[in-house]
Amino acid sequence: MQSDLIRKATEVLQGGGLVAFPTETVYGLGANAFESAAVEKIFSMKERPSSNPLIVHIAEISQLKDLVEKVEPMEQLLIAAFWPGPLTLVFPKSDKVPKIVSGGLKTVAVRMPAHPMALELIKSCGFPIAAPSANPSGKPSATHHEHVKAYFGDRIFRMEGGETQHGLESTVVQVKNKVPHIYRLGSVTPEDIERVTGVKPVIDTRSPHSPGTHFKHYSPETQLCVLTKEVWKTRIYQALEHGKRVGILATTESARSLRGFEVTVFDLGSESNLMEVGSRLYSGLIELDQQKLNIIFVQEFPKTGLGLAIMDRLQRAASR
Ligand code: AMP
Ligand code: MG
Repeated sequence: MQSDLIRKATEVLQGGGLVAFPTETVYGLGANAFESAAVEKIFSMKERPSSNPLIVHIAEISQLKDLVEKVEPMEQLLIAAFWPGPLTLVFPKSDKVPKIVSGGLKTVAVRMPAHPMALELIKSCGFPIAAPSANPSGKPSATHHEHVKAYFGDRIFRMEGGETQHGLESTVVQVKNKVPHIYRLGSVTPEDIERVTGVKPVIDTRSPHSPGTHFKHYSPETQLCVLTKEVWKTRIYQALEHGKRVGILATTESARSLRGFEVTVFDLGSESNLMEVGSRLYSGLIELDQQKLNIIFVQEFPKTGLGLAIMDRLQRAASR
């Protein structure tokens, strides 16, 4: 039986409104992907540049045929391996997809999320849902319904699904001439993609073909600084000496080295569990940002596997 929540959210979407819903990556801010006027509201609510295309969310493979021109064998392999899950694929788009969804590009990004509430909602609506992350443009993505509430209050209908599992946005991939190109790093890693396709992916995270990667991203208001192991304690000590209120975003192990320092720590979990670190990253940025600190220091992570996606987000968040 359908829950009241799904029924109400469906009504809002069918009426051309916006719904914030949980996925396994981050919260999405969704509208009917086939209705330009509804999708338009996402851009104004987020103050998102209109050239930054959205991801279309589906619940069944059969929904692809209305959205894309064709699916290549390598894309089939990726779909079979990772859907439902945190992988977005970029396809040549069909004429049915409104221009506003694809930011004027000839391609469309599609993903099947793995969250039961998201899947149920899409099925209940009967149309695919276009949804970027549920945050004002440039801010850290919402990984808990409380973040969505803090960002938008009651201006949008909010589905409350607690904390999301991955906490990092989906990996965005386009297959071009039988080579996977990664436009955005995520919890499906380059290694995962090579294992499935047999081809080493090109990492192209500043691609002109993926406009979203050019914009300022994930940034807290408070200054954020990524520190290497070598300067970790010294730089923090110096900031404290200068009378700064210091926030620390670090693994349990790195935070332990700061015992006795007067700092506000957000613990990302053990360095042996990068999945957990990734899932807590935005919570940490959002929560430390609410504490009126002068500076937030975050430790560096090794740039392999999931560490690559984590460092990508941190470096973007730290750049001004
Ligand atoms: P968001 O929905 O905020 O997580 O961002 C969506 C991401 O997908 C952005 O980085 C976009 O640039 C990327 N994206 C969406 N559509 C396309 C597309 N057609 N081609 C390349 N990248 C895309
Ligand atoms: Mg986003």
